[in-house]
Amino acid sequence: MDTAEIRRRFVAHFEQNTTVGAHTPVPSASLLLDDPNLLFVNAGMVPFKPYFLGQETPPFPRATSVQKCVRTPDIEDVGKTTRHGTFFEMCGNFSFGDYFKEGAIELAWDLVTKPLAEGGWGLDEAHLYPSILDGDDEALALWRKVTGLPEERILRLGRKENYWSMGIPGPGGPCSEILYDRGAAYGPDFDPATLGPDMPVALEDRLLEIWNLVFMQDELSAVRSKEDFDIAGSLPKRNIDTGMGLERVAFLLQDKANMYEIDVMFPVIEKAEELTGRRYGASHEDDVRFRVVADHVRSSLMLIGDGVTPGNEARGYVLRRLLRRAVRSMRLLGYEDPALPELFPVSRDKMGETYTSLHQDWERISTVAYAEEHAFRQTLRAGTTIFDQATAELKKSGGTQLTGDKAFALHDTYGFPIDLTLEMAAEQGLAVDEAGFRRLMNEQRQRAKDDAKAKKGQHRDASAYRQVADSMGRAVEFTGYDVVTDEGSVRGLVAAGGVVSSAGPGDDVEIVLDRTPFYAEGGGQLADQGVIELENGARLEVRDVQSPVTGLIVHHATVLSGEVTAGLGAHAVVDVERRRAISRAHTATHMVHKAFREALGETATQAGSENAPGRFRFDFSAVGAVPASVMSDVEARVNEVVLDDLAVHAEVMSQAEAVKSGAMALFGEKYGDRVRVVSVGDWARELCGGTHAGSSGKLGVIKLLGESSIGSGVRRVEALVGSDAYRFLAREHVLVAQLSDTLKVRPEQLPERVNDLVEKLRTAEKEIEKVRVAQLLAAGGELAAGAAKVGPVNLVAHRADGAGGGDVRTLALDVRGRLPQGEPGVVVVIGAADGKVAVVAAINDEAQARGLSANDLVRAVGPLVGGKGGGKADVAQGGGTDASRIDEALALVTTEVGRVAAG
Ligand code: ATP
Ligand code: MG
Repeated sequence: MDTAEIRRRFVAHFEQNTTVGAHTPVPSASLLLDDPNLLFVNAGMVPFKPYFLGQETPPFPRATSVQKCVRTPDIEDVGKTTRHGTFFEMCGNFSFGDYFKEGAIELAWDLVTKPLAEGGWGLDEAHLYPSILDGDDEALALWRKVTGLPEERILRLGRKENYWSMGIPGPGGPCSEILYDRGAAYGPDFDPATLGPDMPVALEDRLLEIWNLVFMQDELSAVRSKEDFDIAGSLPKRNIDTGMGLERVAFLLQDKANMYEIDVMFPVIEKAEELTGRRYGASHEDDVRFRVVADHVRSSLMLIGDGVTPGNEARGYVLRRLLRRAVRSMRLLGYEDPALPELFPVSRDKMGETYTSLHQDWERISTVAYAEEHAFRQTLRAGTTIFDQATAELKKSGGTQLTGDKAFALHDTYGFPIDLTLEMAAEQGLAVDEAGFRRLMNEQRQRAKDDAKAKKGQHRDASAYRQVADSMGRAVEFTGYDVVTDEGSVRGLVAAGGVVSSAGPGDDVEIVLDRTPFYAEGGGQLADQGVIELENGARLEVRDVQSPVTGLIVHHATVLSGEVTAGLGAHAVVDVERRRAISRAHTATHMVHKAFREALGETATQAGSENAPGRFRFDFSAVGAVPASVMSDVEARVNEVVLDDLAVHAEVMSQAEAVKSGAMALFGEKYGDRVRVVSVGDWARELCGGTHAGSSGKLGVIKLLGESSIGSGVRRVEALVGSDAYRFLAREHVLVAQLSDTLKVRPEQLPERVNDLVEKLRTAEKEIEKVRVAQLLAAGGELAAGAAKVGPVNLVAHRADGAGGGDVRTLALDVRGRLPQGEPGVVVVIGAADGKVAVVAAINDEAQARGLSANDLVRAVGPLVGGKGGGKADVAQGGGTDASRIDEALALVTTEVGRVAAG
């Protein structure tokens, strides 16, 4: 049964259920769903969290979904176990205060054991083992009742395996799993009656966990670890959250050894076999590599599909790591050409059957992936050279271990992963000081952490904010779309990471109001600033506004005067000038985005932005530099739209309506959410929670400053808007006026005039050079005339300050030609220029006949000027860096010539 059919049957089983009732099928949320605690959605329940936490009322009592998941911690297991993917799909059924344990157990068991012909998985009961949390007698009794299995077939596991919580105070509960015994080929024999409380690692591939049922029933008051927590009581509404691994069921039903061999993954392995010429199944080492390739190609495809671009931190880093590991595994399999253009389309064709947007977005997705591979290949090339040098040096010095410093430099400067360094070193029979490397990495990580802490203030621990949010019982109302001043009341104060009851003059405090016109930084838009005045006369200056947990808006403020306490009425006043300038920038960003898509095609999607007062930054996907002509077209286009003075309006609608209206950027939205769509006339339409100018005319003027690369396949445009753009243009104008005044030409003649000047300057420099050489040579006659007699030899030993190597040589040869013919002649000139010393010796045939040699002379004096050199018997040249002993060197020349001539 192919994966698509398993997925379809799962949803049908719950959608059409009549015993507990129909489940509403909910499409998968984006992998990038906004959750401060998660990099990626990692379970089917994540989009439903607000319902489980009681923050929102669920629109349905029961739901079912097949959720895209990414689990980065499982990356090391990929290919080594039979069952871990970095990307996988989790099928789930959910009850929000509706049916509980019995319904969940019945529904799951029914689907798992129902014959294939009747729409189930048809798994043989003899291989199935339910597990419970040891002590959950209710679950034990229900499993016995529903399955008819004897008590000893039901495994009792400990909290580590079978208790679920979010790691924070809130809901929690025991779990039950359904495990499938795959037989002796996959692990040792076991006795179900005595198994537990831990599941032995050696058994995990044999007793395959396919489905986990969470019975959310407890209210936890404290969670110290996975196994150590306090249960304060029962939840008023008990919930069900289950997760079944689609790929795991697929490999059982397709009778494959592991998840990487199922219908939607194996074609990538086959393609890799074809490319590398190696066979899957021939060696364990290669097999792991093949599986890593299949997994990572699929995961990166899905991540890019949901809008991730490779980068150096957070989500971008995970993607980068996956792509690089895939490429590297192909290299280890012996394939050195670009691999992703071969592999990605194979994965797209399989995954695209379900996720059709992979086809629509293909151009963007493939561009991002291929650009990253290209960049990595260059990294490998540069790093390999450095690596080879380092190992060659090491071997020459007889060492056997590459230092931690070197490994770290390779990693830090060349992006060389440590495992690559380890492997390449091993191939050379060398070790690597891994401990030293790790120490340096940790130091760097700590620096980064301290940095982030310093930047984000006390944002790291969210518990104080949750406490405030809980005590409010509802979300803070943001009124800033309509007003810039508003009345509210103080609902909570946080200082130094904890809730406080009051604050006084000079204190830095984070203040929460029940309603506020202050915009919290988000969606690329910087926070508002302003003041808050309280009814008792206290005043606070608001520097920053953040939303650390969903539904909460926190003003970072300094108390200017008075006493701040919760409950007081508050008058909040946003700095309007700043807000207006930011709003103009935000509207301009939308317009620039749209204009780039018009100019470069739909693949020019936004990859990030920052909207600050009067200026903005817009990042988007594009291959290679954006031509200057496109930059000026885009600038012209957006300024036309400014003149058209299109009205800007925002509208809240369903996602389906948003898609239909042609809105851009549907990333990270949650199904069922109403979305806010901001339109500039009918022209640019985008999902956005930010604030905007009332109409495009309010922007005044937009000036693009330039564009650059900020990573593989991503370009950044910086720009100014409104009075900042005007001031910039005005400044440029003044500059041009000054230049045209100085150069005495009209502005439009400036380029020609400057070109002329540069040309003239070049000619003049050449002239000067000629004169200089002529002067130098003119000195030649005088020097030759003043030659000293050392025995029979005419000797010129001359110091030429300011002359470089070329001049020294020219001079020496010139002087030699002027010495009396038929007599032995020796010329040595030492010049010093720019910290370098040049020595040239030139001697004639008669001098050579007397045993003198230019080469010997240069070698004799070279060491005195801190250098070496040499040449032939007639002309030799050397150089050094020590100008302090030039005179000594010249004296030595005289001595040497005297010595040889006499001998
Ligand atoms: P395991 O112990 O095998 O790693 P888990 O306890 O982490 O599993 P859960 O968090 O309970 O799994 O997730 C629910 C279901 O999702 C599992 O029963 C399994 O079928 C599936 N699943 C979990 N992690 C992965 C993964 N990395 N790849 C594929 N399927 C997974
Ligand atoms: Mg796991």
